[in-house]
Amino acid sequence: MLRMFFMSNFENPFKDFVFSLPEDKLDLLIECINNRKDYDLYGVTNLEDAAIKYGRKPMCPKCSCENYIENGHTPAYHKRFKCENCGCSYTLLSDSVFNSSKISFHKILKYIQLMTFNVPLQQCIEVLEISSNTANLWRNKIFQTVNGYQDTLQLSGRIWIDETYIEDYNVLGSDYINQKPRGLSKTQICIVVAIDSNKNMVAIICGHGKPSSDRIYKTLHNHIRPNSIIVHDGEKAHNKLIRELNLKSEVYKANTKDSSYFEKMGLINNMCSWIKRYIWRFIGMDVENLQTYLNWFIYLQRCKRDNDKWPKSERILRHLILERTRYTEESQLFLRIASKHSWCKPLKTGKIV
Ligand SMILES: [Zn+2]
Repeated sequence: MLRMFFMSNFENPFKDFVFSLPEDKLDLLIECINNRKDYDLYGVTNLEDAAIKYGRKPMCPKCSCENYIENGHTPAYHKRFKCENCGCSYTLLSDSVFNSSKISFHKILKYIQLMTFNVPLQQCIEVLEISSNTANLWRNKIFQTVNGYQDTLQLSGRIWIDETYIEDYNVLGSDYINQKPRGLSKTQICIVVAIDSNKNMVAIICGHGKPSSDRIYKTLHNHIRPNSIIVHDGEKAHNKLIRELNLKSEVYKANTKDSSYFEKMGLINNMCSWIKRYIWRFIGMDVENLQTYLNWFIYLQRCKRDNDKWPKSERILRHLILERTRYTEESQLFLRIASKHSWCKPLKTGKIV
């Protein structure tokens, strides 16, 4: 084994060359190799070419006019456009999350890839050799891009629905440990989960404690096509939804001794436990961001389902590139404020094309 290692090193025709390079030249070589790898995988080596590939059109960031004159290059060799309407100068990536970003194309793609496996932030920082600020910023940008993803999702045919609960440590009093409340208390956040036979799914926060019929209706009615079949545990809180959307109800009461219960409700039970397991990664998280994490979870499930047709990293990159937004500290603040006051609604920031 050891001999093979030496042999393979000895036989590598580039070894002497690479070891003789000074630091700065070695960096250039690594960059070049990374470009080549990106080209083989994505057909492009930089963000601007990727924007052209995915069909991003030049559009004035000030007045949204699409008529322009080509106007040379920026010092960083980005094509420059001049708006025919207001005279504003811009590039293809002005008005995008990549505007004046310093992180390389290769690192962005690697970062997206790590995020699709929900790798902890600290690990991303180490693996990619980026600062914690950069890692945080890009995580927020990626989260925001898919944040509106669940808004337009609609389930149909046979739909399983259920609720799952997680503890909201933010509202727990200091005496909680001594006096654990019984049953479902106001300290638990309710997440309504639904999945249909095509594996379309939604997971939306539905307030604290056991939800009322109104709350369930408000949370799910836009996501369920009328006249569908709903498969559930017969919870009374589902009644308004069933009535208003004219759903056919199929009830399986939770009974651990009945094997047909597991068979009929396996899909939704599994989904609930996956969500719980996923949320545990964010322990100590800001609960205000919980809906954002759920949006990301649902988005990833969809990407995994379609991964054969469309590799997930590239799909996320395309969303980021086509997004027309300017990311500021304020928009991050907006994200948090919005989530605080709209438990039942997914956040409106970010659009999926
Ligand atoms: Zn303009």
